[in-house]
Amino acid sequence: MKFIFITGGVISSLGKGLTAAALGTLLENRGHKVAIQKFDPYLNVDPGTMSPYQHGEVYVLDDGAETDLDLGHYERFTNTKLSRLNSLTSGQVYQTVLNNEREGVYLGKTVQVIPHVTDEIKRRIHVLAAESRADIVITEVGGTTGDIEGLPFLEAIREFALEAGVGNTCFIHVTYVPYIKAAGELKTKPTQQSVAKLREIGLSPQLMVCRCEKPLDKELRQKISLFCSVPVEAVIEVKDVDHSIYELPLVLQREQADELVCRVLHLDGPPAKMGHWQEIIRKLIAPQFRVRIGVVGKYIGLQDAYKSVYEALIHGGIGNDCGVEIVRIDAEEIEKEGPEKKLGGLHGICIPGGFGERGIEGLIKTAQFARENKVPYFGLCLGMQIATIEFARHVLKMEKAHSTEFHPETTQAVIALLDAQRKVTKKGGTMRLGAQPCQLQVGSLAAKLYGAFMANERHRHRFEFNNAFREKFEKGGLVFSGLSPDGKLVEVIELPGHPFYLASQFHPEFLSKPHQPHPLFKGFIAAALQQSRVGPA
Ligand code: GLN
Repeated sequence: MKFIFITGGVISSLGKGLTAAALGTLLENRGHKVAIQKFDPYLNVDPGTMSPYQHGEVYVLDDGAETDLDLGHYERFTNTKLSRLNSLTSGQVYQTVLNNEREGVYLGKTVQVIPHVTDEIKRRIHVLAAESRADIVITEVGGTTGDIEGLPFLEAIREFALEAGVGNTCFIHVTYVPYIKAAGELKTKPTQQSVAKLREIGLSPQLMVCRCEKPLDKELRQKISLFCSVPVEAVIEVKDVDHSIYELPLVLQREQADELVCRVLHLDGPPAKMGHWQEIIRKLIAPQFRVRIGVVGKYIGLQDAYKSVYEALIHGGIGNDCGVEIVRIDAEEIEKEGPEKKLGGLHGICIPGGFGERGIEGLIKTAQFARENKVPYFGLCLGMQIATIEFARHVLKMEKAHSTEFHPETTQAVIALLDAQRKVTKKGGTMRLGAQPCQLQVGSLAAKLYGAFMANERHRHRFEFNNAFREKFEKGGLVFSGLSPDGKLVEVIELPGHPFYLASQFHPEFLSKPHQPHPLFKGFIAAALQQSRVGPA
């Protein structure tokens, strides 16, 4: 078993997660079984309780773990299935250690960062290695070298490498080489200092992945090689990619990063076969068709809040050889300016998930616009609840229709809490979370798109469609095309006679990959493409 550790230097947001994921792609395509894991040094037990403003999207796994959005990259780039074992925060480490202490596991010893905290971190690498049966475990250490809270993780991987023996571990440092305009030069000093900081703790990277805006010339590569003690060919240049993050595996391959990693780890084997990946990139760079999709949401200003949704829309495009231009629209702007101005000219409209009252009326107007003007509509979680409220208000004439999340006293609560949820007062991990089966109605659009009568999709929500109104909706023409196997929970709704009006209580965006576009996203983009031929609304 081999282990790769990825650390980050100089600044955050350098794409360590993407580097881990892209390296995973290459190693898989060399024939290795890969597992990828993220360590997050913050003290939250998981990011589930963090605001999207703080942390971007919460990425949900099959087993209901609420994780960092980097795990989304891991799943999209590779074929590994992740579980809560693939995500570890300082909060979880300390929680375990403190529980152990209370239970007397440490037999009266003084409980310390070294060895108790570091042992727990190492244990989690071993557990993943054993459970995943992977040939190679890639561990990304979140944060930046020099952060106080990251130290136990760095110490733990140092010890781990010592125990694993030479040739079994490979350390990769992702760093930033800034371009200073006034000097007209790239500067390597921050990188040198970041590596010096790593060395203080006893870690020496074997590969330097250098993020930069301009090409790294030979001289700079030699300088980094000399100061950071890596062979010059192990200085990897990663400029900002031109078109898509999915180019990254090909960039790393061109720089022979996977080759070097395999050499460090004494792994033989043929080069990665990336033909299918090149075809994906071709479709991204020069697609045959193009559509414009509006994503109308609550957290539009944030780059990462709907990460998986944006990616899944692009995958839906790949599935149709179609470029997807995403127009981000703030729900509150629809409230101020009305839907026509913002939504006219779109070939499809998607409302993703969200929590809380702000912007809800704008979302309802958006769903109404899509329904009445026959613009393809795809609702995800909150997007399904919104479509339901809109249908109730404007088709069924239930003027007070609402969700009790936004209007607890409404007399027409078409979306409400289940009894089991009503008693919950804790915040973390208490939603309906993770993959659950869904039965699809014969003859429905959903069943046609899936090409199956069962789906298994991930959830993250508290509120549900209120079954007291099911018959009324059905009489009004709405089809409940996906239900939980016991028939009690509404999972998918659709509107026959509309080019594409479909919404799900689950989050299909978490299961889409560039090489396996999710069928609902693929179907939505196909409908938008059709719409682009008819002409926009
Ligand atoms: N706020 C809604 C609920 O909790 C929708 C959640 C979501 O969109 N993820 O049910």
